[in-house]
Amino acid sequence: MICELVDAKKVYPMGDLEVTALKGVTVGVQAGEFTVFAGPSGSGKSTALNLIGCLDRPSSGRVKVDGRDVEALSDAELGAVRARRIGFIFQSFNLVPVLTAAENVDLALRLAGMNEGRKEKVEQALVEVGLKDYMTRRPSQLSGGQQQRVAIARALVKKPAIIIADEPTANLDSANAVAILDLMREMNEHNGATFLFSTHDPMVMERARRVVRLKDGEIVADERR
Ligand code: ADP
Repeated sequence: MICELVDAKKVYPMGDLEVTALKGVTVGVQAGEFTVFAGPSGSGKSTALNLIGCLDRPSSGRVKVDGRDVEALSDAELGAVRARRIGFIFQSFNLVPVLTAAENVDLALRLAGMNEGRKEKVEQALVEVGLKDYMTRRPSQLSGGQQQRVAIARALVKKPAIIIADEPTANLDSANAVAILDLMREMNEHNGATFLFSTHDPMVMERARRVVRLKDGEIVADERR
């Protein structure tokens, strides 16, 4: 198992009240899976991804990532797991505007302290996502679809244990969304990259091999195809 939530609960304070975003969720992702967390807005998808992505800690229950129990890690160790073992793709791409495509991808390696063969790794990752001729462009000189390809390259370049994508097609038109999804499927099938998405887009769900449905902070279905 690459990552696992075991009876994970997340409660957020809201003034005098509390919001229970996850009610005790147990789910695991295996190496090589292409899984979607589906469900309406507010169902707990982002909260679950944030826990698995080591961006947040559960209120109770356990989170295991890449064979490590997150509870046992210091904040610094958790940061290192996040930098080296997890790739993130966001709906708004989150590229650094003043850096070129290549520099954005390189930054991920630098932050992870993975300094060996950086230039070659960056070039290979950008070629793999179809951006061979766009390496020196800045985000403002790229379309949304191309920016998301840079973000995919930035996630893949570390060869992480898992790539977490929070609504990755939400800001793309349908043609670009399909192309981006197909690219991630290809990276999954040919490179063995493990993907975990959140979405409420039926087109994304159609392309997933496994759909975990959340509702009101609970898993209501887990379908494999
Ligand atoms: P989804 O990704 O499915 O839209 P979320 O995980 O973002 O769902 O949210 C689940 C619930 O937790 C919602 O009711 C949301 O309002 C609440 N929530 C999420 N993050 C916070 C936060 N930082 N503070 C307070 N409430 C939050």
